[in-house]
Amino acid sequence: MTRGIGIAGIAGRMGRLVAEEVRGAGLVLAGGIDRPGAAVPDGVRLFPDIATLAAAADVVVDFTHAGAVAAHAAALAAAGTAWVLGTTGLAAADQDAVARAARRIAVVQSPNFSPGVNLVLALAERMAAALPSETYDAEIVEMHHRQKVDAPSGTALGLGQAVARGRGVALEVVRDSGRDGHTGPRRPGAIGFAALRGGQIVGEHTLIFAAAGEQIAVTHRAFDRRVFATGAIRAAAWVAGRPPGHYGMADVLGMR
Ligand code: NAD
Repeated sequence: MTRGIGIAGIAGRMGRLVAEEVRGAGLVLAGGIDRPGAAVPDGVRLFPDIATLAAAADVVVDFTHAGAVAAHAAALAAAGTAWVLGTTGLAAADQDAVARAARRIAVVQSPNFSPGVNLVLALAERMAAALPSETYDAEIVEMHHRQKVDAPSGTALGLGQAVARGRGVALEVVRDSGRDGHTGPRRPGAIGFAALRGGQIVGEHTLIFAAAGEQIAVTHRAFDRRVFATGAIRAAAWVAGRPPGHYGMADVLGMR
């Protein structure tokens, strides 16, 4: 890496931590972008837009807002700059834009950069493949801080996708989120989601397989957002100079 790491959303909770961690690791911080008027950390070079940041960096680490993703995809692909994408809550059209960009640049996309969660994701797929859906009901419960704007969390959906993959079904077909009112009995084979919001919880996820005779629950708790920032920097160091492709944290961690 010669030009260094750029940060999209550098004034945000995650962006600030990534900037601190880049400097702490002795890597080059190319600079960042944020919304006009945002309070940017001291000593950071602020770029006017994603295109100029992309031209000045080897990799852009992105923790912004789903609404920014399609424009970032186009600008990074045009500049040939690698992309570490942590933003969650993407609509299908945003996800398509990411997939298109990944044909031209290397993209590491993960709803959760913590090593522990990625291990749980791998485990979720194996558990789902071993525990038949007719007997074991899969439910995912997550809790996050009160500022979080999307639900279920990207990580909860990632867990749901892992369970669906293990069962050979499409999550969209079996997903059951936000039960409320007279819902009727549980649909056989459904993957259920419940989202709790409150306080300053960094991130808690529990995957439950509930059967008539037993229950298995796997819980991951993140205590410090820094775990996502260090994971994102690890991804940035890994992805710089890679051929175009759509990668995940499992690739970065050598888990596949
Ligand atoms: P935040 O609101 O504190 O920060 C987001 C920053 O992005 C803000 O400073 C905002 O001004 C800026 N921003 C928004 N739109 C922009 C645009 N178009 N151009 C430039 N800057 C823009 O939020 P946060 O807690 O840092 O989280 C950001 C995103 O990252 C969310 O989607 C969150 O769910 C996700 N997240 C992912 C992980 C992970 O491990 N993948 C971990 C934590 C958070």
